[in-house]
Amino acid sequence: MTKTILFDLTNAKLEKFMADMGQPRFRAKQVMDWMSRGAPDFSVMKNLPISLRNDLDAVAQTLPVRVVKKLQSTDEQTTKFLLELNDGERIECVLMRTSYGNSVCVSSQAGCAMGCKFCASTLLGLKRNLTVNEIFAQILVAQWELRDDKFADKPIHPNGDANNNDVSHIVVMGTGEPLQNTKNVIGFIERANREMGIGWRRITVSTCGIVPGINELIEWGRPINLAISLHAPTDELRRKIMPIANKYSIQETMDAAWRFTDLHNRQLMIEYILLGDKDGNLLNATTECAEQLVEIVHGKNCMVNLIPWNTVAEREFTSPSGNAVHRFQDILIKNGVHTRLRRERGTDIGSACGQLRISG
Ligand code: SAH
Repeated sequence: MTKTILFDLTNAKLEKFMADMGQPRFRAKQVMDWMSRGAPDFSVMKNLPISLRNDLDAVAQTLPVRVVKKLQSTDEQTTKFLLELNDGERIECVLMRTSYGNSVCVSSQAGCAMGCKFCASTLLGLKRNLTVNEIFAQILVAQWELRDDKFADKPIHPNGDANNNDVSHIVVMGTGEPLQNTKNVIGFIERANREMGIGWRRITVSTCGIVPGINELIEWGRPINLAISLHAPTDELRRKIMPIANKYSIQETMDAAWRFTDLHNRQLMIEYILLGDKDGNLLNATTECAEQLVEIVHGKNCMVNLIPWNTVAEREFTSPSGNAVHRFQDILIKNGVHTRLRRERGTDIGSACGQLRISG
């Protein structure tokens, strides 16, 4: 028998569900409170009678995602969750504890259709879009992890000190292309803002450059952060590593991106992986590429995140040497481009960029 996912019910439906089990209305409220903190199952709901917890467990589950595996990086700052959805598909999300807060990287799709040559997420193609609840549940899983130690045995006091134990930032940069699932991604962001109080400016959506999707974000009008996965400074080179480049030119993509950031007076984040071919020759990390990249971003409000490629076993690329990386970055800096080398988090647990994959 498939279990009812209580998180997917409206308050009224949950009350009805509990009433059918002979339970008063306040029990529904208690269950809802626990779920909105990310309670993974009923056993943790200490203010419910044990018999009720058991009865619920027999017919229902809390969230639409179930943690199958949890991996902790050796520095304990990064936690990766392998999650199973109700139809058996698997996705991942990553919690990163940083000096500026607790950031969660969420997936927007199971698998990915984009086919970027350097990325692990797309190896098995697209399975399906995630629902609003499935995306939202990922931050609840992270939230539960953050609060776990402190509150393991007691209900959380609503006025209790958050004490840095809240999710404060969201990046939609996990598996999938968010702008192929724009409606649900927007629904998710609206909800995270409304129900968890996460400010627009602490939320970032990363896209490989789906122009109509960027236009939808413009229409939507919320001042979130936008990240563009550029990865090459010419259409010719970009087409070799990112199939989406056959559909939209760099010019079209960047025009849409600047329109978005100009509208909200935000800095555009540009992601740029540094790649070598399998023999170690620089691909998109040559001096010439750096100069071409400067041309694209010159005078614009943006931050270029340089990401030395993280190894994906099935992919035949290499990561440029430290020297090559610094040479590339120096050219950007000398030309007044804001840039930083992304400090990879969680490489030891396969949760760095492009390493998220279904097998976990
Ligand atoms: N589809 C979205 C979001 C997911 S990818 C997008 O393309 O932006 C998140 C970031 O990780 C992207 O910039 C992606 O290009 C990058 N990435 C993918 N594989 C990588 C790898 N092996 N090493 C480093 N970065 C990678």
